[in-house]
Amino acid sequence: MKYCTKCRNEFEDWAGECPECGLVLVYDIPPEGSSGFDCSVKTAVIYRSNKWRDIEVAKNLLEASGIKFMVKGMDASFSIIPYLFGMKILVAEKDKEEAGKALINLKRQR
Ligand SMILES: [Zn+2]
Repeated sequence: MKYCTKCRNEFEDWAGECPECGLVLVYDIPPEGSSGFDCSVKTAVIYRSNKWRDIEVAKNLLEASGIKFMVKGMDASFSIIPYLFGMKILVAEKDKEEAGKALINLKRQR
């Protein structure tokens, strides 16, 4: 398996770069924390969508609020084309409430 160092999604060995971040994939995932998201903390899914644009908007809202998050495909085996199968955004459990507030405008649109 190969990994994206930014979103930490897994990809097949033949994949060259992350479709989300555009970064070159590596075989060894770097030590935790280098992505800015602390993977050792308890996480909560705060948003799901199979629309890539919704995920992008949600990411921008979270970034604007300064909340650390990660985006994952619904199913790791499909992560090479995650936007076809749906994506989820995870935040640290402690940021869940704040993230919910950040996304409230997004949810209202739907
Ligand atoms: Zn990525």
